[in-house]
Amino acid sequence: MTINVQNFIQDFRDLYLKSPQCGSWTRASENCDYGDITTVSKDCYMCFNSGNCREAYYCEDSRELKDCVDCAFCEACELCYECVDCNNCYGSNYCQDCVNSEDVHFSYDLKRCRHCIGCVGLRDKEYYLFNKSCTPEEFKQALSTLDISNPLIVEKVDKKVEELKRKVPRMYVHQFDTENCTGDYITHSKNCHRCFDTRHTEDSGYIYQANLDKGTNDSWDCGPIPTGMDLCYDIAYSHYLFNCKHLYWCGNLKDCQYCTNCFESENLFGCHYIQRKQKGFYILNQQVEEDYYRKTTRAITDLLRRKRIYTLHDLLNKDLSAPTPEISDSQLERKCVLCGEVFELTENERKFYKEMDILYPIYCPECRAMQRFRLRNERKMYKRTCGSCKNTLITTYPPESPFIVYCLDCYWKHMG
Ligand SMILES: [Zn+2]
Ligand SMILES: [Zn+2]
Repeated sequence: MTINVQNFIQDFRDLYLKSPQCGSWTRASENCDYGDITTVSKDCYMCFNSGNCREAYYCEDSRELKDCVDCAFCEACELCYECVDCNNCYGSNYCQDCVNSEDVHFSYDLKRCRHCIGCVGLRDKEYYLFNKSCTPEEFKQALSTLDISNPLIVEKVDKKVEELKRKVPRMYVHQFDTENCTGDYITHSKNCHRCFDTRHTEDSGYIYQANLDKGTNDSWDCGPIPTGMDLCYDIAYSHYLFNCKHLYWCGNLKDCQYCTNCFESENLFGCHYIQRKQKGFYILNQQVEEDYYRKTTRAITDLLRRKRIYTLHDLLNKDLSAPTPEISDSQLERKCVLCGEVFELTENERKFYKEMDILYPIYCPECRAMQRFRLRNERKMYKRTCGSCKNTLITTYPPESPFIVYCLDCYWKHMG
C-alpha cells in the first residue's frame, strides 16, 4: 500500500467524513440521555462534561452533584441551585467560590459558613446577613422573603451583594497547593504557564479544563479535558497519552499524530476511528512497514509545514487557497493571525516546540483553545438515528451534520 503524500490533506479530510463519530459519550449512566460526556451518573438531564451525579439538571463541568440545578464547575454539592465554583456545599443558591458551607445564599467566597445571605469573604461564620451578624430568627425571616422565583427580588439582592463584593478584598487567583503557576483555578500543580481549571499539572502551558483525576506533564495546548498526558501538544477531549500531537477524542495512545477517535495504539499518523491495541504502523488507517512509516510521515510533516498547517483544526478545516502570513521564528512577540491579539512565545514554550518538532504558533493561546473547543458540537441536543443499528439517538450532532454517527455500542463494536 502506498500513501500519496501530496494528497494527504484531502485524503485525511475524506477519511474523517467517512469515519463514524460517537453520538453521545454518556456512559455507565442511567436515565441521562439528554446531555453529553456524562459518566457514572443517574437521572440527570442536560448535563455536560460531568460525572458521578444524581438528579442534576443543566449542570456543566461538575462532579459528584446531587439534586442540583444550573450549576457549573461545582464538586460534591447537594441541593444547590445556580452555583459556580462551589465545593462541598449543601442547600445553597446563587453562590460562587464557596466551600464547605450550608444554607448560604447569594454569597461569594465563603468557607465553612452556615445560614448566610448576601455575604462575601467570610470564614467559619453562621447567621449573617450581608456580612452582619444576625439572630437565627432574623435569618429565618430574611430567608422566608427571599423568593428566588421572583426576578425583582433576585436583582435587588444581587445589587446589594455586588456593592459588598467591591469592598471585601479577595485573593488575586484561585490557586491551591501550587508552585510557580500562572493562570486561574489551579490545584496541586507546579510550573504551569497560563493554565485554567487544571489540577495535577506540571511543567506545562496553556492547559485548559484538565479537570479530571490524572494530571498533565510536559505538555502545551491541551484541553478541554485532557487527563494523564506526557509530552503532548494540541490535544482535545482525550486521555492517557504519551508523546502525541494533534489529537481529538482519543485515548491510550503513544507516539501518534493527527488522529481522531483512536484508542489503544502506537504509531498512528493521520488515522480515524481505529483501535489497534498497539500493533503495527499506520498512516491514513493503512498498515505500512516501519521504514516506510518513518520516511512518509516525515514527508507529510514537511508538506503540512509548507501548507502552514499549525493545528488539527487547520488540517481538518483550513481553507488552503487562502494565504497565511509568514512569521519568522526569531519574532517572539507576535500578532495572532486570527484575532489580532499580541502574544509572546516564552522560553520554555520554545524549548518544547523545538524538542517536539512543532512549528512556532501564529495563533494566540486563546484562539488555539477555541479551535480545540470547536472540534466538538454545541451543547444542544437533537434526535438522530444511529448509522448502524438505526436506534434513536439523542445527540449533539444535528440531523443535517454530514457525519456518520453511531450509538456508543455500535461505535465500539465496529471500530477497526
Ligand atoms: Zn487570537
Ligand atoms: Zn447503534
